[in-house]
Amino acid sequence: MDEEFDFENRIMSSTFTEEDSDTDNALRPKTLDEYIGQEKAKENLKIIIGAAKLRGDTLDHMLFYGPPGLGKTTLSMIIARERGVNLRITAGPAIDKKGDLAAILTNLSEGDVLFIDEIHRLPRTIEEILYPAMEDFALDFVVGTGPGAHSIHLPLSKFTLIGATTRAGQLSTPLRDRFGVQMRLELYTPYELSTIVKRSAAILDVPIDQEAALEIASRSRGTPRIANRLLKRVRDYAQVMGDGRVNLRMAQEGLAMMEIDELGLDNTDRKMLETIIRYYGGGPVGLEALAATIGEEAVTLEDVCEPYLLQIGFLARTLRGRMVTRQGYEHLGIPYPERLTRPDPGVDGQVSMAETGDE
Ligand code: ADP
Repeated sequence: MDEEFDFENRIMSSTFTEEDSDTDNALRPKTLDEYIGQEKAKENLKIIIGAAKLRGDTLDHMLFYGPPGLGKTTLSMIIARERGVNLRITAGPAIDKKGDLAAILTNLSEGDVLFIDEIHRLPRTIEEILYPAMEDFALDFVVGTGPGAHSIHLPLSKFTLIGATTRAGQLSTPLRDRFGVQMRLELYTPYELSTIVKRSAAILDVPIDQEAALEIASRSRGTPRIANRLLKRVRDYAQVMGDGRVNLRMAQEGLAMMEIDELGLDNTDRKMLETIIRYYGGGPVGLEALAATIGEEAVTLEDVCEPYLLQIGFLARTLRGRMVTRQGYEHLGIPYPERLTRPDPGVDGQVSMAETGDE
């Protein structure tokens, strides 16, 4: 319905885009101490890494879950670095044959870390190879068919698997149970993000004021990847429109030009809320119907727009579909239809939280 939608290249998308690639590695913290926030996860990791070091043992398999851009890949790089081992990075959708995974596994050396991003997208038949690999450090497979078929047992080096997923709920139980360590990464506070923005600005050699860093941080949807991206856009703005220094005015003007509002919502988020209100009376509407109306894939709406709209309480996910809450209406400046007798998920935050579930 609306051609101007460009979900793939959304500034506010928390998934990795081409734009991130040039500076991504330079901005990644290299040690746990440089890694800002996620105090609980860091504390646990320090103990786990310290204990493995003392025992001279390989690290337990770990599962990191949470929305994209929160630092799961970065954390696994740090872990491999702290242990002084190799890191092999792959992703669930990149492995489409059993042989691909078998080849990766047989090439690992003692102690190596294998990072599988989006591990929930690994096909089930391929996933099964991981069970004996994780548990017994061996590959078991059958060669040939019929009476001539025989099974082969291939020992592997003792390795550590780190799985990352945005949807822990979609992981099969047998796979999930094989991770000794499971950690949920949380959205960052504006203060933590402002520290990340200042750190990144120093690396990129961009002079920035504290208020400007906080302004960028508070519009970054709790996500370091978005904070870094906004910083780069605001830096460009300040270079062209000012003297290159990022002060509060430059940050506000630059962000306003990108049509990112004070809560970090962009055009796409507002469009999603508006569509539910204008076409579906505020909801509930099923994700598929909504996606068709907007002309976008349901999975994109679910992964890119929804998590933050749910988190700030503008959207509620009920069994019958998505609903815009009173706060969502108010943010858009559209009067909330009081005459409706439906339960107001905006009043009772429990409804939205309970329905969103812990993925
Ligand atoms: P994920 O794997 O969860 O999608 P990444 O590890 O790729 O996220 O992180 C995205 C970007 O955000 C990285 O380039 C890194 O620079 C930055 N980043 C993530 N977490 C932190 C952190 N805790 N401190 C500083 N920068 C971070």
